[in-house]
Order: sequence, then structure tokens, then C-alpha cells
Amino acid sequence: MIKKKLEVLTLHAMEKQQTEQEKQLRYDSAYLKMAESWSKLSHCKRKQVGAIIVKDEMIISDGYNGTPAGFDNCCEDDDGNTHWYVLHAEANAILKVSKSTNNSKGATLYLTLSPCKDCSKLILQSGIKRVVYMNSYKDTEGIDFLVDAGIETQQIDII
Ligand SMILES: [Zn+2]
Repeated sequence: MIKKKLEVLTLHAMEKQQTEQEKQLRYDSAYLKMAESWSKLSHCKRKQVGAIIVKDEMIISDGYNGTPAGFDNCCEDDDGNTHWYVLHAEANAILKVSKSTNNSKGATLYLTLSPCKDCSKLILQSGIKRVVYMNSYKDTEGIDFLVDAGIETQQIDII
């Protein structure tokens, strides 16, 4: 009788956990789609990347790769090389939080492309605890660095 009750309880807990995982995946996918929409705002020709930062179930920041405020929107020089001063999407999103009254501690970062080495340092130092991304950047050093640092990372394909 007790065993039966325990089994029912365990089953219930498992179902609950499964529903929570499904819910998380639905939200993760929705935020990634937003990041994808944001990437389309980028004026950069070579690569367009979008970022969304979510904390306590609220979107606290957004970003796409581009030149700093006040600069010409064009990301590439005449030879097609990206200007050194172009900020990556995640850097822009993190810096936007720094201009607000909020902070990124414990937040989740949604990206259309996994971070580069330079941005991975910013992500770690900003207190972001989870990174969800769609596509893998050719150089995995950034994401490897975050995994080593204990940041939860997850790649999700958007259907
Ligand atoms: Zn970067």
C-alpha cells in the first residue's frame, strides 16, 4: 500500500518535472525566436547576430551586432572586413543592462550564435548563469570557456 502510494507520488513528481521541462523548452524557443528577430535589425552584412537577456522571467535587455551609438551603421570597410569597433550582440545586450538600473546576475542569455572568446569573458563576469543558443560559432573556445567556468549552456534547434 505504502509502496503503491510512493510509486504514484514518484510518477506525479516525474510528470511535474517533465511538464516543467516542456514549459522551459517552449519559453527557451520563444526567446530564441525573439533573438532571431533582433538579429535581423543588424546592419552588418557578414553576420547578423541577436541577443536577449532574461532575468526572473523578464526580458531585461536585447542586442544585435553593430557599431557603437553615434557611429555610422556600416560594420564593414571597403574590403569587406569588419571594423574593430563593432560590438557583438551579447556585448551590446550586456552593456545595455549596465546603463539600466538592473543587472545580469543569475540571468539567462539567448543567442542566435554561440559566443566568441572575447564575449565569453564578458558573459562570465556579468553574472549570467545560463546561455542558450541556436547555432554554433566555428570557434568553440568561447563556449568551452563558459562550460569550464560552470555556466549552463544549451544548444536548441528552432523549428
Ligand atoms: Zn563576441
